[in-house]
Amino acid sequence: MSQPQDASLEATGACHGGKEQLDRAARAAGKSETLDRYAADYPVGPHDQPQSMCPAFGSLRVGLRMRRTATVLSGSACCVYGLTFTSHFYGARRSVGYVPFNSETLVTGKLFEDLRDAVHQLAKPEDYDSIVVINLCVPTASGVPLRLLPPSINGVRIIGIDVPGFGVPTHAEAKDVLAGAMLAYARSEAEQGPVQAPRAGRSARPTVTLLGEVFPVDPVSIGRMLEPMGLAAGPVVPTREWRELYAALDCAVVGALHPFYTASIRELSAAGRAVVGSAPVGYEGTASWLEAIGEACGVSRAKIDAAKNAALPGIRGALAAKPVRGRITLSGYEGSELLVARLLIESGGDVRYVGTACPRTPWAEADRAWLAARGVEVRFRASLEHDLAALGAYEPDLAIGTTPVVQAAKERGVPALYFTNLISARPLMGPAGAGSLAQVVGAALANRARFTEMRAFFEGVGQGHAAGVWQDVPRDRPEFRAQQLIKLKKKPKSEEAIGC
Ligand code: SF4
Repeated sequence: MSQPQDASLEATGACHGGKEQLDRAARAAGKSETLDRYAADYPVGPHDQPQSMCPAFGSLRVGLRMRRTATVLSGSACCVYGLTFTSHFYGARRSVGYVPFNSETLVTGKLFEDLRDAVHQLAKPEDYDSIVVINLCVPTASGVPLRLLPPSINGVRIIGIDVPGFGVPTHAEAKDVLAGAMLAYARSEAEQGPVQAPRAGRSARPTVTLLGEVFPVDPVSIGRMLEPMGLAAGPVVPTREWRELYAALDCAVVGALHPFYTASIRELSAAGRAVVGSAPVGYEGTASWLEAIGEACGVSRAKIDAAKNAALPGIRGALAAKPVRGRITLSGYEGSELLVARLLIESGGDVRYVGTACPRTPWAEADRAWLAARGVEVRFRASLEHDLAALGAYEPDLAIGTTPVVQAAKERGVPALYFTNLISARPLMGPAGAGSLAQVVGAALANRARFTEMRAFFEGVGQGHAAGVWQDVPRDRPEFRAQQLIKLKKKPKSEEAIGC
């Protein structure tokens, strides 16, 4: 049994501790298997550590959105503060459980005992189907052994996962860590005997499990498009309820709408399900997706053609009715960036660059190839530096991106849209998705004059260290930064801080 080992981790805090040091500590404390699996599932690139929010937010959010599921965090108070703040900012409206620790409880193994007591107290079958316990950076690095929690208490399933910032690259992939763990649990239950049917009963038609958090209208649109093939839309994974996990496993085929769910795909494949990448976006995307799904399910040519004939004319009409004009760069960390780029291009947009924080996987391949064939620069594991370089190189009329990209674009007087808040929160699939981006994109593009005016208005108020209105304009001290850079270069790599 591994026990917490390194009290200094608690004092240092993982955000300021070395990534390699944490990795070493976690491995010494018995987490090698977990970290090796994460390294294989979520291969890193230039963007090998969080450049946005703490990755654990992905797992936390999945847990908080499930009915009859309690979520408990085990980590430093500052991390838990940030994570609960973000959860409530995004409207969680649910309590986040927290088991605090100090140096003593961390190193003596008492933290694990406290966690076990907490899940025993929470495990009331009248309230919960499952309890999720998430080890953040410090408890993971210290080897707090969540796998030793009982698998269930009073029939309430206990799911313990490690989601450290030094092992899981993005919050998108952290969603997969929890969804995969839940599917694995549900699969073992289904193998042992009968399990609960979905709330609305078992579908009479073979179903397509949809992988990836999508706009609520999208599964409905997909269901309509599947009807002529005698298929139905199955549950969306991550699911909103435990019993949906069984239905997700019980599908005819999996549609990996978001391509980074590697652990979930492993579980669905182990259940014998074929997986189809990409998604029904735009005319061409919908046509190929319906073909691929139909073929994977052994649907006749006539029925596949019927499905295409029913969906495609409407999509073509909607795309033509709501065109997008202008040069666009696009980046994000949701995993749907390539799909949005396809839709914008089919709407007439001149997309030059797509950066995603997610990795390149086989299920992103069709979209990557489609975009590359149209001359789009596609970057997986794109860093902020890549996204900013694209902004400079392509001089877009509109930049769609993460907060710092949007900020940089606006500074240059380039209209910009937040990917997460403004683009992801819209339907993308089928006829409902076609043309849905035109209004928001068109309004942003039309704003260029306002940005030019604003730039002119603020002209002369300084930039960077001298930004603002001063009596004595602050003096830049590049020599300090140069000295610090020299010192940093001399410092061993293992002592470098990680961001989160
Ligand atoms: S990545 Fe940062 S905020 Fe998230 S758990 Fe690790 S140290 Fe805390």
